[in-house]
Amino acid sequence: MANYKRVLLKLSGESLMGGKDFGISPKMLVHYASEIRRAIDQGIEVAVVIGGGNIFRGLEAKDSGIERVQGDYMGMLATVINGLALQSALEAEGIYTRLMTALGMDKVAEPYIRRRAIRHLEKGRVVIFAAGTGNPYFTTDSAAALRASEINADVILKGTRVDGIYTADPELDPKAKKFDNISFSEIIRSGLSIMDMTAFTMCQENAMPIVVFDINEPNNLIRILKGEAIGTLVTN
Ligand code: UDP
Repeated sequence: MANYKRVLLKLSGESLMGGKDFGISPKMLVHYASEIRRAIDQGIEVAVVIGGGNIFRGLEAKDSGIERVQGDYMGMLATVINGLALQSALEAEGIYTRLMTALGMDKVAEPYIRRRAIRHLEKGRVVIFAAGTGNPYFTTDSAAALRASEINADVILKGTRVDGIYTADPELDPKAKKFDNISFSEIIRSGLSIMDMTAFTMCQENAMPIVVFDINEPNNLIRILKGEAIGTLVTN
């Protein structure tokens, strides 16, 4: 096993779409739930921050004549919809879960309370953090950086469609090379970007390692937890 006991898994909303253009793919939900179950079966504590980009992004609001802050709240609500869907999929796998939201909505989810979140994790429950940070102008990557630091996670596992960080976009440049390891400062020096700057800086300042990996490849999550060099590890 790697030295990870408690991990924060960041799943983007986009990844939930699978092959669709919008919304939630039931196949992807089942895939994520089974990946998470393998981790739980090994005694790993798993917290999840879920995005909302498959439903709504605040930045898109302007095109619809909706003010940015209003759009951001819509985006945060989208993450709650995804969180509820993921919770159901996890429960179907027999996993105990708690959905915690940064915006109060006590009929659908618990409010985020740090100590309570940690207690759930200690009891082996998967905690899904929804509604991002609860503040407009942030992203769910920032929520991942914030929550991971708050709950003393050992690492952020950022599940993406690509299998790590490359010298250039591998979908555009066939010569692009993958990094197995890279430092925060080298990412900045090389003009690469793995998440928005606010989230990135927070991880760097708190020495929170990040593994960027292909979440769609079956067993990747458990392989990382078993210490295999999957994806790209970012450290100070
Ligand atoms: N959002 C926000 N504050 C937060 C987290 C999210 O305002 O702390 C809004 C923002 O509009 C964002 C949307 O919710 O565009 C969906 O989140 P995000 O884009 O991070 O989702 P992902 O790209 O991971 O699917």
